[in-house]
Amino acid sequence: MLKKEFKRKDVTRARNLLTGKSGASSETQVGYKKKRVDYKEGDVWVENKKTWTIKDGIKQTISKMDAIKKEIFMPLCCPECGNVMKKRLDKPNYKAHKKCFDCVIEFEHKLRLKGEYDDYIKNLRLKNRLTEIDEMESMFLDLANQSNEGYISEHGELERWKGGVDVSKMSTAISEAAQKGREAVKKELTNEEN
Ligand SMILES: [Zn+2]
Repeated sequence: MLKKEFKRKDVTRARNLLTGKSGASSETQVGYKKKRVDYKEGDVWVENKKTWTIKDGIKQTISKMDAIKKEIFMPLCCPECGNVMKKRLDKPNYKAHKKCFDCVIEFEHKLRLKGEYDDYIKNLRLKNRLTEIDEMESMFLDLANQSNEGYISEHGELERWKGGVDVSKMSTAISEAAQKGREAVKKELTNEEN
């Protein structure tokens, strides 16, 4: 049975995507050795199919659902104009701007008149990039986790990849890269706002 293994080069690729260096070489191969890791405040890793972190000294799971629920929740009326948000374009616009489509159009029109539209779009792109990094991080953490689950051999036995991928180490690498990517975008955002 064949199953694609999540390897070091995939971690490197993930790291490059997360930090925006997608053109960089991703072929460096280094063997992983399993070892015990002591986690510290702020570390993120996958264990027993859950994503964990240490916050305020307490080991706890990160609930992806919490984040997703918060993202999708949309009130009935636009907080800006009070109109009912029922148009097809209201939802994506509410998600991005926290107001209805009409309000976004009006807002952008005013920005154009003031000559501030380009800065606003650049800012928006940077913010979207932050969301993208979060989504990629989550996806890569899932992938890294799957690769250590092993597979059922022809003899019906559970086998794990020989030489074992170090899920904890990969997860840490992925999260570190995501953090680096986020910091770079935030730095650019700060420059943009000043
Ligand atoms: Zn509105």
